Amino acid sequence: MMIQNRTREIKIGTVIIGGSQPVVLQSMAATKTADIAATAETCQRLAEAGAGMVRIAVDTQHDAESLREIRKRTTTTLSVDLQENYRLAEIVAPYVDKIRYNPGHLHHAEPEISWQKKVERIIEIARKYDCALRIGVNCGSLDPSATAGNDPMFDRTSNRVSDNAINNAINNAINDTINNTINNALNSAVKHADFMESLDFRRFCVSIKSSDPKAVISANRQFASLRHDIPLHLGLTEAGMPPEGVMKSRLALEPLLAEGIGNTLRVSLTVPNNRKQEEIEAGKLILRNIEQGKILTTADWTPDRFNIISCPSCARVENDRFVMLVQQVREATRFMKDIPITVAVMGCRVNGPGETDHADIGLWCGAKSVNLKRGTTLLGTFSYDEIVPKLLKELEQFQQQ
Ligand code: SF4
Repeated sequence: MMIQNRTREIKIGTVIIGGSQPVVLQSMAATKTADIAATAETCQRLAEAGAGMVRIAVDTQHDAESLREIRKRTTTTLSVDLQENYRLAEIVAPYVDKIRYNPGHLHHAEPEISWQKKVERIIEIARKYDCALRIGVNCGSLDPSATAGNDPMFDRTSNRVSDNAINNAINNAINDTINNTINNALNSAVKHADFMESLDFRRFCVSIKSSDPKAVISANRQFASLRHDIPLHLGLTEAGMPPEGVMKSRLALEPLLAEGIGNTLRVSLTVPNNRKQEEIEAGKLILRNIEQGKILTTADWTPDRFNIISCPSCARVENDRFVMLVQQVREATRFMKDIPITVAVMGCRVNGPGETDHADIGLWCGAKSVNLKRGTTLLGTFSYDEIVPKLLKELEQFQQQ
């Protein structure tokens, strides 16, 4: 039996996470949420494969209302992903067991309302409908106010974590951009956790994800040392296609689990919806490895220097050609595997623009075209047929500079 970091337990539908409970595997539907039959079928298939919980994205009122019918067609424990529209929580809450919000997306809708008021509202809804919550921090879409001490609206007098502890964690890692990002992610997670507890709400877990395995390890280790009582959901975001995506996830998650950190996990793979159960199979592999004391490190496997990060796709994906596009990018760039360049390929406008910012070259998908970026600069928008040759040309120029 794996030794667990003894967090508190929280109930999510019929599932309990934390404490001495086994690690729960999660996945996410990549169907359009309004396609009720396909989404319900995916939830059932994932549950049969071993998912303890399945997440569904909602963006519109129509998506939210579809959950009523999806709930009737599946017995799976359901989690819902709110992105920019926190107000949808009220419509979805009666039909789901957990609501995940990203602190980095709370400021989008109704910016005149403080994040505290929005979180208060989400908590009120969670209490009313018996839901758990997840504070889902993502290093690619951080809360702009997340820098330490940068949020005058947060009253630190109610903190349970001493400022010294936070500052120590922050001071340990302030030297470069990656460490700053980790600090900001950590700060955001701690800030939201403290705020929830100041309202006497404890039925929540936290995730701090990044596409960089080292960042995932560092952020989660620091969070677990600061707040060992709060259950953690682990994941390497935008891990990409298998087998690389599985290996990168193992690099990030196995060291943490071996230390007893992590109560649920998701391996986010860029695969078509009908192969989503591969995420559960990869999760099982990781748990088996931990049981057998096998921990993958970079001494055993080093990722190619040419790094493709790509999202797993979800209901928000703008064009069904997304997964094929990632495959084409991988095939077209195989000859560059020893060149240290990072290319990010994202499926939609919600996370695409922000989560390609840290890559050398970024592609994010629109409904009919793909946006090509270098760093934070948009270079142009091209059709799905044109984009791979344009990318190769841009890579050539990038190497010459
Ligand atoms: S970037 Fe991909 S996984 Fe993230 S919201 Fe968009 S389509 Fe979904």
